[in-house]
Amino acid sequence: MNTRLAARPVEAFARQDGKLACEGVLLEAIADRFGTPTYVYSRAAIESAFAAYTAALQGRPSLVCYAMKANSNLAVLNLLARAGCGFDVVSGGELARVIAAGGNPRKVVFSGVGKTEAEIARALAAEILCFNLESVAELEMVERVAAATGRRARVSVRVNPDVDPKTHPYISTGLRSNKFGVAYADTLPLYRRAAAMPHVEVVGIDCHIGSRISDIAPYLEAADRLLDLVDGLAGECIELAHIDFGGGLDIRYRDERPPAAAELIGALMARVDARGHRDKMLMFEPGRSIVGPAGALLTRVNIVKPGQEKNFLVVDAGMNDLVRPSLYDAWMEVQPVAQRGGSVHTYDIVGPICESGDWLARERQLAAEPGDLLAILGAGAYGMSMASNYNSRGRAAEVMVDGARVYEVRRRETVEELFALESILP
Ligand SMILES: *Cc1c(COP(=O)(O)O)cnc(C)c1O
Repeated sequence: MNTRLAARPVEAFARQDGKLACEGVLLEAIADRFGTPTYVYSRAAIESAFAAYTAALQGRPSLVCYAMKANSNLAVLNLLARAGCGFDVVSGGELARVIAAGGNPRKVVFSGVGKTEAEIARALAAEILCFNLESVAELEMVERVAAATGRRARVSVRVNPDVDPKTHPYISTGLRSNKFGVAYADTLPLYRRAAAMPHVEVVGIDCHIGSRISDIAPYLEAADRLLDLVDGLAGECIELAHIDFGGGLDIRYRDERPPAAAELIGALMARVDARGHRDKMLMFEPGRSIVGPAGALLTRVNIVKPGQEKNFLVVDAGMNDLVRPSLYDAWMEVQPVAQRGGSVHTYDIVGPICESGDWLARERQLAAEPGDLLAILGAGAYGMSMASNYNSRGRAAEVMVDGARVYEVRRRETVEELFALESILP
């Protein structure tokens, strides 16, 4: 077995002689070479996080489909594809990325409430593994497009199991009030319709109840509801090949203690087995837990601004680079890259963007001077993939560390690139 893929947790960032490093490379050296702000990823951490899933599933028919909206850099996708990973995509653009990165479209599931006909046609042509359907209208659209192109679409129904994952309201998706999935009571009729359609093949069932879930209980609750449906369908001679439990496992940002992937999978497998479905292929769609801990956003202090009520460290990264704090009120760990002496103050760490919501961390105690480097940890997921060009700021560079080597996997955007697609009136 490839030792790279051994299922041991890898810490992406650690101190070497007091200085923060990613694998074998000092973050200072990365800032010198590539500038700031820069996203830094650890190859070993990404691969070990993926291996934790596959090791727990060893000996079972299974497929892990990385939810690439968490981080869709081609280098990240390519490493996962090489390791055998599938992908959960939510747009035609994401499918194009999988293919560009050397991923196998036959290991792709297509999620999302608003797939267009054009996206469905492209996914059918690529022969993806499965469309995860979210509505009757979508089922009809898939049948129509498949018929028009003479193909048969493999489908699963994304069930809304109406369980509370006890997470942030913006990232819970399996409640009755969410826009996602098919209401539990509507599921069987939808399957019956799908099973009768000539260009649709029913292959699975799926759910995704939310993100940042740090408890196994809601997963088991959802699993029971899904397994009830699997039994009900079998009673009507609709046999499913796979059960997809979605993603959503949290990571440790501060003091959270989410279960390890192996723990979650062990508990779910036990439930599936106890209910007599050992033969089903098990699928997962993890995003955050694969890439989150593997990445940091490296930023430099530009201005130290003492205030009447608050002291601010104005850094060169902003909400356009990392929106999680302002969007979800998320707490992210900030560490000085080099520990320094000097007086410690309480600072809000903010960006240069013209919005009061442009903050990255609040009320942190540290000693800092202009020019100091800070690392925002746990930024590998929903960091760069949610970045924007607000305030005409080019997006950050991204680098991947592999042992003692560093690869630039996305160069910094230039200002000219930001308006290259625009034109003025004659
Ligand atoms: C976002 C998403 C995921 C991944 O969620 P994480 O919390 O990042 O693991 C999985 N499946 C679907 C359908 C999603 O929308």
